[in-house]
Amino acid sequence: MTAMLIDGKKIAETLRANLAVQVAQLGFQPGLAVILVGDDPASAVYVRNKDKAATGVGIAARTIRLPADTGQAALMALIQQLNNDRDIDGILLQLPLPAGLDSAMAIRAIDPAKDVDGLTPTNAGLLAAGLPGLVPCTPLGTMKLLAEAGVTLRGARALVLGRSVLVGKPVAALLTAADATVTIAHSRTRDLAAECRRAEVLIAAVGRPEMVRGDWVANDAVVIDVGINRLPNGRLVGDVAFAEVMPIAGAITPVPGGVGPMTIACLLENTVTAAIRRRA
Ligand code: NDP
Repeated sequence: MTAMLIDGKKIAETLRANLAVQVAQLGFQPGLAVILVGDDPASAVYVRNKDKAATGVGIAARTIRLPADTGQAALMALIQQLNNDRDIDGILLQLPLPAGLDSAMAIRAIDPAKDVDGLTPTNAGLLAAGLPGLVPCTPLGTMKLLAEAGVTLRGARALVLGRSVLVGKPVAALLTAADATVTIAHSRTRDLAAECRRAEVLIAAVGRPEMVRGDWVANDAVVIDVGINRLPNGRLVGDVAFAEVMPIAGAITPVPGGVGPMTIACLLENTVTAAIRRRA
């Protein structure tokens, strides 16, 4: 038996196509502002992809590029200006920021109603409280992949490997809300392999190339690989040793082509959601 491949690229395409139809019927054009500070090449690629995807579904995307030596005050002023801009429904601050800038402070300044990355303490609190807010894009995409793959979460033993604010914690909150029994593992977890082997649903978000080996995974487990790691030879791999896990798992996401495309599609969905809520 080999695992069913969960095709994030295809699922994201469908989501984007549905969003394009929804946007065309809105009667107004949602606006997304992406702030890119500095000249980190990977961030520049991410921002270009987001801009292109947003434009593709009919969102008015505006990328604001600031030099690497931008001061905190100038960044805060820009965020304030976008908070007050009636045409902007979503604000995304591309992370990481250059050294010397306080990203937590900048994120706190974003209007929670426009926080399409779901990273403000307000939206994190709403998620923790099980109340409607804006949910971080990668966790939202992860949940959509599980739903599309027909995974039953109620009562399932889920393990989230990683506890970041961006991925691990919100994924754990969403799985809990979906009635899974959730364990969060991290760098201080004892016997990680044994913890992973107990999981019926395993979400890997550690940023360690191919750390999850074949013998860490239970037969028929559903494995969602959030990790994106570039090897010295240029190849992109996830946090899961795909070739080893494929014959054991029940379903698995590839890297690339799994969670990555869903993250962008969910950013667009969040922008449309924010626009509808703001302008209703
Ligand atoms: P962080 O570095 O913020 O968090 C990593 C987490 O993994 C931490 O909780 C850390 O534990 C844990 N961890 C690190 N090393 C180990 C280890 N050896 N054993 C057990 N736990 C470990 O990363 P992110 O959450 O931001 O991202 C995780 C991965 O997901 C990265 O590869 C990133 O590139 C990718 N990513 C992919 C996205 C997509 O669209 N597909 C979007 C966002 C991220 P501790 O807390 O104890 O330090």
